[in-house]
Amino acid sequence: MKVRLYEIFTSIEGEGILYGTKTLFVRLAGCPFKCYYCDTKESLPMSSGKEYQIDDAKKLIENNLIKNTYKVNFTGGDPLVQSDAVSELAKFVQQKKIMTYLESSCFDSVKFAQVLPYFDVVKIEFKTPDSEFVDQAHYSKLLENELQCLKLATDSGKITYIKIVVSSRTRLEQFKNLLKSIFDIPMKTQIAGFIIQPTYGIAEPDLKQLLDFYDAVHIYYKEVRIVPQLHKFIGAP
Ligand code: SF4
Repeated sequence: MKVRLYEIFTSIEGEGILYGTKTLFVRLAGCPFKCYYCDTKESLPMSSGKEYQIDDAKKLIENNLIKNTYKVNFTGGDPLVQSDAVSELAKFVQQKKIMTYLESSCFDSVKFAQVLPYFDVVKIEFKTPDSEFVDQAHYSKLLENELQCLKLATDSGKITYIKIVVSSRTRLEQFKNLLKSIFDIPMKTQIAGFIIQPTYGIAEPDLKQLLDFYDAVHIYYKEVRIVPQLHKFIGAP
């Protein structure tokens, strides 16, 4: 088995519920989508980065693990594109008793179910229609997959949190409709957080918009947080 990695590095987690933790990032190459605010565009082509035999990739991870690393974050691109390899690598990390963390757009619930056993923490990202992730004709299919991923993750008892990126283009009504779909699904375990992440450097939302989004989530879930990408403020990758 082979895997294509764009990069591997240790930094400070700047997103989500575990921000501030020392993290080894394993960035997989390849994502077939095109969110207009994507900040990792270089890793989107499947030809980006470098190809490794799976055992060499395991050694690379091992050699990059430094002391006090809190977790290994599999990110992209989108890790689900290389789900077989990601399962192998995450299993390898788990065997070392280090927490594994999945960052995915959850576009494919079958692939998500395949990798889920090897992850301790999963971020379920919901894309708003304005993200340009997919065109309008494919949006409902995407939402179906994201909702299924959320259900799989919470039913399995994994630490699961939700993230939605918002921008000045995000319409409150569409955001509210999305929330209705999310909180309509019966979840066996509670989510561990709900993060609203404002875009940075492009179509940034203003404070009023952010407070409106916050209030919309608060109806369903009181522990909502607005968290910008903190690593960008300290110039970290
Ligand atoms: S899903 Fe993620 S990696 Fe893919 S284009 Fe959107 S923001 Fe970029």
